[in-house]
Amino acid sequence: SVEPGSPYRVVLLGASGVGKTAFASIFAGAADSMDSDDCELCGDEVAEREIEVDGEAATILLLDTWDAEKGDEWTQERFMQIGDAYLLLYSITDRASFLRASELRITLRRFRPARHTPIILVGNKCDLVRRREVPTSEARASAAVFDCKFIETSAAMQHNVWEAFYGIVRQLRLRRDSK
Ligand code: GDP
Repeated sequence: SVEPGSPYRVVLLGASGVGKTAFASIFAGAADSMDSDDCELCGDEVAEREIEVDGEAATILLLDTWDAEKGDEWTQERFMQIGDAYLLLYSITDRASFLRASELRITLRRFRPARHTPIILVGNKCDLVRRREVPTSEARASAAVFDCKFIETSAAMQHNVWEAFYGIVRQLRLRRDSK
């Protein structure tokens, strides 16, 4: 269970090329403009930092599954089990990555059947308007079916990336407070 003050384990899931690494570096790199003690890079695929959401501090341990897509099944299953919450990324310019996100959502449900695990469907690369293959309305409808929140982001423009993290923290708190 999630205790107040203990880090929330947030897992980045999604097809390769959708922007997981870009998300992780925004998350980790924002330390540049802040106290460096706030951010501690624990390895290539893990970053931990404290952020303030609605006036309350939250610590996020971000796990990037960048190699899980090519990696063995075991690694992927491990990620499905350890997260307190998930950012399920696709690229709005790549319909295949959107379908991959749907598959990952189904797999997640299999691993986390009973618990309500916060999941946000993230349509990244929304700056690439002319290359859009996935309409916002379609993604929003499928998020509703998947029982998860939805946001469109641009890691390149640093648009809505932090909002996705804030959204995750708010959902985790709702779950914590309803216990
Ligand atoms: P990953 O395989 O999911 O980790 O994806 P990456 O973070 O490595 O991103 C793949 C490519 O897409 C890189 O060339 C990024 O610079 C680019 N990219 C990531 N996010 C965005 C975005 O929001 N907009 C644009 N235009 N490019 C992006």
